Amino acid sequence: MKNILCIFFYLILVYCNPLTANELGIIPKPVNQTELPGKFFIKNNCEITAKSSNKQIIKLAGYLKDEFSKKTGRELKIKSGKTSNGILLVLNPSSVKETDGYDLVINENQVTLTGNNLQGIFYGIQTLKMILSKDNGLYFPCCKIKDFPRYPHRGFMLDASRHFQSVDFVKRVIDMMASLKLNVFHWHLIDDEGWRIESKKYPKLNETGSYLDSLNAKERNGYYTQKEIKDILQYAKERYIKVIPEIEMPGHSNAVMKSYPELLCPTNEGGNTYCAGNEKSYEFLKNAVSEILDLFKPEIIHVGGDERPKGVWEKCSECKEMIINKKLANEDMLQNYFMREICNFINSKGVKTFAWAENIKDGVPNNQIVEGWHPGESWDAARRGYYTVNADNIYTYFDYPSYPRNDKPDWMPVLNLEKTYSFNPTPDSLNENEKKYVIGSECALWTELVLMNDVQYNLFPRILAFSECVWSSPEKNYEYFLKRVKKVKPYFNSMGFEYEKGAW
Ligand SMILES: [Zn+2]
Repeated sequence: MKNILCIFFYLILVYCNPLTANELGIIPKPVNQTELPGKFFIKNNCEITAKSSNKQIIKLAGYLKDEFSKKTGRELKIKSGKTSNGILLVLNPSSVKETDGYDLVINENQVTLTGNNLQGIFYGIQTLKMILSKDNGLYFPCCKIKDFPRYPHRGFMLDASRHFQSVDFVKRVIDMMASLKLNVFHWHLIDDEGWRIESKKYPKLNETGSYLDSLNAKERNGYYTQKEIKDILQYAKERYIKVIPEIEMPGHSNAVMKSYPELLCPTNEGGNTYCAGNEKSYEFLKNAVSEILDLFKPEIIHVGGDERPKGVWEKCSECKEMIINKKLANEDMLQNYFMREICNFINSKGVKTFAWAENIKDGVPNNQIVEGWHPGESWDAARRGYYTVNADNIYTYFDYPSYPRNDKPDWMPVLNLEKTYSFNPTPDSLNENEKKYVIGSECALWTELVLMNDVQYNLFPRILAFSECVWSSPEKNYEYFLKRVKKVKPYFNSMGFEYEKGAW
């Protein structure tokens, strides 16, 4: 009886402790993985082979070579054609059918990474980087993986307005995102505290609007030059990350109003809001946005739209005149008019718009993607037939404390690792048709209270949980996740990201 009990408890232990020292630790969890016996040792003659002369695949081979060399100090050779003993990169959409998916087969003689597209191969490389191990030599554990993303929009939003981050740091964030197979960098570059994009058309945005803080000048003042932005865009592009710049309007615009006060309502109220009755506001925004579109060449631009101070426009004679002339019901509808004017202009340049959910019951401009940050907003958008990114703040705002803390404001709820992990961007309460409108999620780091060096503690380990919410299948096992969090810790530490202590 004692032996049977021992076996029983052993089985429970094995079942509940699925990750042992030699097993794979991959985050986000692949759709399917089978661990096989053996190891593929990376010998001195190991080559990376692109099974085609496609320049982009050879470029990916170069990326893998560079990453391997950064991590290990060893140089691998690259060739194209056939291989019998090395790492083979293959592009084959008829064998890997899922968009951005990849298959990875590792046996003792060869690693074969097959992608549905280039992005799929790139994601397979991220998995290879994460499972690279050392034990009497560098090796990849033998396994078979089939993997593809749950959502097409897997984002991280970084607030560069409240506190400013260096170019090198932003690149490190982009590398971290790539490792977690996140593909949208939502860059919050403009808010009350600062305008962070070099403007050649409106120099006061930089002379004044980028230098508003006299007390914490080092961390809170500055802007990215156009050259630096181009450099970051190229860096992100090479990592299959789409950059969406955010230009706040009509509120959250104190940095603009300090630079060009003539754009405020003549009442001088609502100090951070454009006067929607003044044609100069529209002219300024169209010119400023044109410069940003020329610089970023984005597929999508975020136009903010949230938290306009209420009651300001109703006191302004010019705004009131606009409400009457355009036959609008109230100042909320004036905001819809304002946003539509700017969004139509952006659409006319072939660029889509993205905005925080605000007053969506009265409609959004054509094809605008709605970002819901209050609970339920994205579901509402989906029910109305708008494509939506569910960034429900109670699961995705990483400026919230991950455990009860006295040094955070009372209004911030605790968002611990387990709660982040439990997030399902597409709840079962939506019907099958409505679910199609939820295209993904974003986690956000607002930086009112977060200095650049503290960004890592706000992100880690919660961003690991978030990556599984947007990449992996919705079936979850928190204990198994925690074991993998532990296993990948050295990997992220080596990229310069520490986990928050006491948070998990
Ligand atoms: Zn006004």
